[in-house]
Amino acid sequence: MEFVADTMLGNLARWLRMLGHDTLYSRSFEDWRLLHLAEEEGRVLLTRDESLFRRARGKGLRVMLITSDDIAEMLAYVAAKTGLSLVFDPSRTRCPRCNTPLTRMSKAEALSLLRDELTAKYEEFWRCSKCGRFYWQGNHWRTINETLERANKLIHRYSISSRSEDE
Ligand SMILES: [Zn+2]
Repeated sequence: MEFVADTMLGNLARWLRMLGHDTLYSRSFEDWRLLHLAEEEGRVLLTRDESLFRRARGKGLRVMLITSDDIAEMLAYVAAKTGLSLVFDPSRTRCPRCNTPLTRMSKAEALSLLRDELTAKYEEFWRCSKCGRFYWQGNHWRTINETLERANKLIHRYSISSRSEDE
């Protein structure tokens, strides 16, 4: 499942990328561009803008109106409505900054490119072939898993409300 996120949803876009989902996002995307990307590429449009949400619906596009400010709630809502799983798998992750799938680095590569403190402390490293950023399993991984755990507990709530909406 592929997404395109409006300019107000940068944080959600970064999280979806981290979870391995192809998500287009740019602070310069205007409404026409968002609609075009959703239509041409069959992406699910994520928006906070109610009028854009209605326009997309009117065109028969797949669109979700995001109202929460809490990242766990946002992820739970998207997961409940689309069925995507909220599991962090480093081998599937995309660069949070530019949406490019990350490449696992060999130990030799890591040793030649990264600071000694990092290679001494961590085992696995990834790099983005497009923007050149490096990633590794640092302390933020615990935060990621805590957020996902919280999100997974919330999915149920949105699944139930979606059923009652349909009735
Ligand atoms: Zn990148």
